[in-house]
Formats: sequence, structure tokens, C-alpha cells
Amino acid sequence: MTWLRGHPLDYDRWQEEGAEGWDWASCLPYFKKIESSTVDSIYRGTAGPVGVQRQEQLSPLNAAFLEAGQEAGWPLTEDVNGYQQEGVSRFEMSVKKGVRNSTAFAYLHNMPARDNLTVWTGCQILKVNLQGTAVTGCQVKYKQQVLDVSADQETLLCAGVFGSPQLLMLSGIGPAAHLKEHDIDCQADLPGWVKICRITSSAIFRLKLNSLFL
Ligand SMILES: Cc1cc2nc3c(=O)[nH]c(=O)nc-3n(C[C@H](O)[C@H](O)[C@H](O)COP(=O)(O)OP(=O)(O)OC[C@H]3O[C@@H](n4cnc5c(N)ncnc54)[C@H](O)[C@@H]3O)c2cc1C
Repeated sequence: MTWLRGHPLDYDRWQEEGAEGWDWASCLPYFKKIESSTVDSIYRGTAGPVGVQRQEQLSPLNAAFLEAGQEAGWPLTEDVNGYQQEGVSRFEMSVKKGVRNSTAFAYLHNMPARDNLTVWTGCQILKVNLQGTAVTGCQVKYKQQVLDVSADQETLLCAGVFGSPQLLMLSGIGPAAHLKEHDIDCQADLPGWVKICRITSSAIFRLKLNSLFL
């Protein structure tokens, strides 16, 4: 529910470390596109599907905390998602008219039905399917059946910080030695993989699989 962007320098560091296109300037248009913020600033979006509002009613404890922070030398920032993140600030929340504005509400329930979208619920992805080192789709357990679903263009894996690496490893993508311990045929040996997963365990973790091996 807390609406908080990462620090701009973290994104710039990602780019410096090789994550092409993840620098702050490249991410900013997407942050703006998501939100409908009540803050008026060039850094903020006002027409996106996710309603965002600042915590307006402060409890005496919240107010005292903000005051104490300033007394300790921290600046008061009016927009924690804008130009100045450092300091003490009222947080923003993904809330619209007092109701939590989840991703599902903003992008699915609150939108007209789309011909190009099909949602299957109650299914389990078993692995991603590979042809050589190219991902062609995934294998899914759905209504007691195991089905292979193929992708025309691309496959995005968004199974969370534990589910995504688990599925990759079940598919044979990961450190060969570790896969061998579990009798999984290795399709791509990525020795640093477990380490990356540990590092990203507190971050949003999405992989565009088509580009994984590039
Ligand atoms: C207690 C808590 C509080 C948080 N509070 C905030 C907050 O206030 N603000 C904020 O910005 N972030 C918050 N976060 C972080 C935020 O929830 C995550 O960063 C975000 O949900 C990640 O989204 P995701 O889509 O990558 O993964 P997830 O939300 O984890 O979604 C992954 C989905 O994949 C499904 N899945 C996994 N494996 C399979 C499989 N094999 N087959 C089918 N489905 C599968 C899972 O069931 C899950 O539904 C909080 C996290 C926690 C735990």
C-alpha cells in the first residue's frame, strides 16, 4: 500500500552495472504512466490507472516524528517520490477515495474487458519450455491437465522473488552443480544465479526470458 519509488541513484547504478535501460531517466516515464498522483510536479503522473494519495491526516505521533526528524537535521520533503527523496516526509499510498487501489483493481477490474487478454486463475506453472536456449512458452497445470502453452512473441516470468528462481531452476536454468543435486538436467549453467536471487529477494523481480541468454 505504501507508494514509494526506489532511489534514483540505485537505478543509475543498475545501468552502470549492465542493466541496460534501467537507469532513472529511462524508468521515470513508466513510473509516471502508472500513477494518478495528487502531487503536482514534473516528476509525477496524473493520468495513470493507479490512484495515489498522500497521507493527509497525521496522528499526533506521526506529526511528532516529522518534527523530531527536522530537529535532528533532516529536511522535510513534500514529495518523497519526486525531486528530493531524502528527509522526513508523509508517505503516499496506493489509495483512491479511501479504498486500496491494487494492481488488479487498477489494471483489470477497473478496465473494460480486452480481447487480447485471457486470465487463468487456479493454475500452476510447472516450468518454462525451451528450444535450445530460447524460451518458447511454459508448461502449466490447469484443471487437472498439464498443458504446454506457447508464446508467439515473448514470455514474461513474474512468479515473485521465490517462485521465479524456483521455476527457472525447475526448467534447468541455474547453477549446474545445484541442479545436479536435484536430478534436474541443466539447460543453461548460470553459476551466479542463486546469489542474484538472494540479492533481489527484497525487490520486484521480473524477467523477460527471451533476453535471458543474450
Ligand atoms: C508484508 C509485505 C508488505 C509489503 N508492503 C508493500 C508496500 O506497502 N508497498 C510496496 O510497494 N510493496 C510492498 N511489498 C512488496 C510487494 O508486495 C512486492 O514487491 C510485489 O508484490 C512484487 O510483485 P510481483 O508481481 O513481482 O510478485 P508477487 O506479488 O509475489 O506475485 C507473484 C505471483 O506468482 C504466483 N506464483 C508463484 N509461483 C507460481 C507458479 N509456479 N505458478 C503459478 N503462479 C505462481 C504467486 O502465487 C503470486 O501470486 C510488501 C511485501 C510484503 C511481503
